[in-house]
Amino acid sequence: MKKTVSLTLLLAMVFSVMACGQTAQKETAAAGSIETAPEAESTRQGEEAATHERTATDAEEETAMKAEFDFETKTVLLNSGYVMPMSGLGTYSLHGDECINAVKSALSDGVRLIDTASAYGNEEEIGQAVREAIDEGIIRREDIFVVTKIYPGSEMENPEQSIQACLDRLNIGYVDMMLLHHPDANDVKAYKAMEQFVAEGKIRSIGLSNWYVEELTEFLPQVDTVPALVQNEIHPYYQENDVIPFIQDLGIVVQGWYPLGGRGHTAELLGDPVISEIAQAHNVSSAQVILRWNLQKGVVVIPGSGNPDHIRENTELYHFSLTEEEMERINDLDRGEKHDWY
Ligand code: NAP
Repeated sequence: MKKTVSLTLLLAMVFSVMACGQTAQKETAAAGSIETAPEAESTRQGEEAATHERTATDAEEETAMKAEFDFETKTVLLNSGYVMPMSGLGTYSLHGDECINAVKSALSDGVRLIDTASAYGNEEEIGQAVREAIDEGIIRREDIFVVTKIYPGSEMENPEQSIQACLDRLNIGYVDMMLLHHPDANDVKAYKAMEQFVAEGKIRSIGLSNWYVEELTEFLPQVDTVPALVQNEIHPYYQENDVIPFIQDLGIVVQGWYPLGGRGHTAELLGDPVISEIAQAHNVSSAQVILRWNLQKGVVVIPGSGNPDHIRENTELYHFSLTEEEMERINDLDRGEKHDWY
């Protein structure tokens, strides 16, 4: 399923897709009442490059650039021209007041990326927390980056309706990133609907989740916009070492879910002797070591937590770095051990 294919062939396909896709993003108008256009535009870097009139020569000369992580600003520049924080909060199992409090606590601690999904059933709480944080002066809308996803089955069968439902439930003006949660019979149709919402300024960037080499190879030639992000399961026991460079070489940013192994699996991973030893050497926690290892591999992290102390700890990833030898020792822990079915 994740076999490596001829990169050259795929790159050729992707360049032609990029040539079409980027022009479609030329004029994204502001949507929603929360956003103020001039400030929001300031989050978009490399805009000139993304919006200038493209010619056939541009397309021929274009090469997909691996996105560089900026450890000073703690952001990465997406191929859509927008910047995304390198670390954030996963909200998969958070609901009700616990969710609202966790998100507000995260925003107060400087977290600027929140990951949700229609399937998590908590978009309304996320939206409420964001709006309250804006009203309380903790953040401005343009300071944060909200990711959501639409699910296979009926949602992808009626994509316009489901995308609009996400926007309505979140109620924060625009959505920074929308993903297709999994491959599906209607995934191309759903992706094209997301492209239309981008053109209308209601979504800023789009991407995929749980797409691997074979799925990407089949999918990319069918759409106009190269995904800005692919979100897959990644942790030291399941490293995706064949898939990550493949995606990154296409100029797509990789985001890892279950960075700490996922609920029910964290104890073994956090207690792993190699990780614990490295953590002790840097006077940080095992969680911080794992998250930092991801960042140094160019993988964005969205650890899930409802615990304010953990949430704060998970933001403190920038005052230390792992040596090449430490990175290698963690790389050697790979077991190809998936902690979920997809
Ligand atoms: P995870 O981040 O690997 O692990 C979460 C667990 O780690 C929780 O039990 C949490 O407990 C604990 N934890 C967090 N920070 C900690 C720390 N500093 N020290 C000790 N324990 C810590 O798993 P996840 O939350 O399920 O996944 C992360 C996010 O990925 C999800 O929230 C979701 O946004 C996304 N996701 C996406 C997909 C997809 O298909 N695209 C699938 C699954 C998940 P406490 O609450 O006590 O801190």
